[in-house]
Amino acid sequence: MAKGPGFEKAAHPADAMEENYYQEHIKVYPAAVQGTVRKVKWAILIALLSIYYVMPFIRWDRGPGLPDQAVLADLPGRRFYFFFIEIWPQEVYYFTGLLITAAFTLFLMTSVAGRVWCGYLCWQTVWTDLFLAVERLIEGDRRERIKLDEGPIDGAYVAKKVMKWVAWLVIAVATGGAWVLYFSDAPTLVKNVFTGQAPFIAYLWIGILTFTTYFFAGYMREQTCIYVCPWPRIQAAMTDEFALNVTYRNDRGEPRASVKEAKKLKAAGQPAGDCVDCYQCVAVCPTGTDIRLGSQLSCIQCGLCIDACTSIMTKLGRETGLIAYDTPVNFDRRREGLAPVYKIVRPRTILYAVLIVAVTGFMAYTFLSRGNAGVNVLHDRNPLYVQNSDGSVRNGYTIRLLNRVGHERHFILAVEGVPQGARLEVVGIDHNVDGNPVIHVGPDRTREVRAAVIVPGAELKGRSSDVVFRITEQGGRETATAKDFFKAP
Ligand code: SF4
Ligand code: SF4
Repeated sequence: MAKGPGFEKAAHPADAMEENYYQEHIKVYPAAVQGTVRKVKWAILIALLSIYYVMPFIRWDRGPGLPDQAVLADLPGRRFYFFFIEIWPQEVYYFTGLLITAAFTLFLMTSVAGRVWCGYLCWQTVWTDLFLAVERLIEGDRRERIKLDEGPIDGAYVAKKVMKWVAWLVIAVATGGAWVLYFSDAPTLVKNVFTGQAPFIAYLWIGILTFTTYFFAGYMREQTCIYVCPWPRIQAAMTDEFALNVTYRNDRGEPRASVKEAKKLKAAGQPAGDCVDCYQCVAVCPTGTDIRLGSQLSCIQCGLCIDACTSIMTKLGRETGLIAYDTPVNFDRRREGLAPVYKIVRPRTILYAVLIVAVTGFMAYTFLSRGNAGVNVLHDRNPLYVQNSDGSVRNGYTIRLLNRVGHERHFILAVEGVPQGARLEVVGIDHNVDGNPVIHVGPDRTREVRAAVIVPGAELKGRSSDVVFRITEQGGRETATAKDFFKAP
């Protein structure tokens, strides 16, 4: 398939596999391209990288004593902050919900537009695109890079390579550095990292992510998508014949012929397709794929070949869309001379959309209806009860109270569902005038106490029962409850 300078190097990686599964890596030299898809990809790249690098520096006032970083995974404080959202360790199910929503969103995207995640949003694609842009800036476009790699190792070669490696290293360090900023106060950590006062774990993570960024975006590139990533294999199950994919319309493009040949063929009454076999679609492809060979695992659906072919068709004054987003069903319909059909709304996409709405709706409901106070109760396992010498029965509990607001609160603890005459005692806690324990809980804190419920023997009647522990804010209206049980002999 070699054609034109550099194509002997940029052969389809899959061709190598046909000859020998373990054939050495064939380097891909993607050419620069301009067009609508490229503009969209630049916009997405800038937006995603800006969010990633800038987010840790955004401040969000949560009141005194609380971190003011908008997005923070505060591991020592056991909190996750996302702007006005604060997640406690016992609420990790929100992350589960988030992961489920992300999975369904990925399924929906795939059933609508194939590997759109791979082509536009995946971090491997985004960072590889960034590394390629830097490479192009320093070493030049496709032809210059091929020439440089095939030429002598002289001063210019070394200077360009060193400049590129240093630039890549700076991006890789910034990537690893930005990651750790999500786990500590960003401005303080930046200062500490540069003055050598940051904790060892911060340097370790910066080192690990610097290596992975450099290795995957600088060296591995398309090999990650073709050989390492499991998603191309899995996503085949999510797609169907109505999913939009980057498609070469071979009914229009074949038989390929140069402009001159096409003229001759047409003059002789022979058919000639619109594809002029210029190989521009292959030259711009970041994975070295020839889309004209049909749907392939190596195609990450980035759409850059659409831009390349559109510019060729425009130059030749031919209709654009020889390579475009289209569906397998239309591929067949066009061959049969039928009009194309597009069905984005179909049972599969409706199901995914309904699941996304259901999961996010449920999470939003539970989040908005959660209180600022909470109580958890754990009954003693051993012994389950103690019979006192006066015949009364005592059950022990560990009770944890939560105060989610930024000031100290006092909670009155009471137990319901116990017989008349039962007493609630909390170790080391004063009782109010009504005889109920009043527990102080610090701002944005939890407090654990040991409690006992004692029921006089005459009231027991030999039965165990369910009980409810209720906390009520002193002078306030907020209450929270937790169910448990009282065990009798
Ligand atoms: S860019 Fe278009 S015309 Fe050129 S080889 Fe590819 S499909 Fe054919
Ligand atoms: S074939 Fe086209 S869509 Fe597929 S990876 Fe290459 S440039 Fe992107």
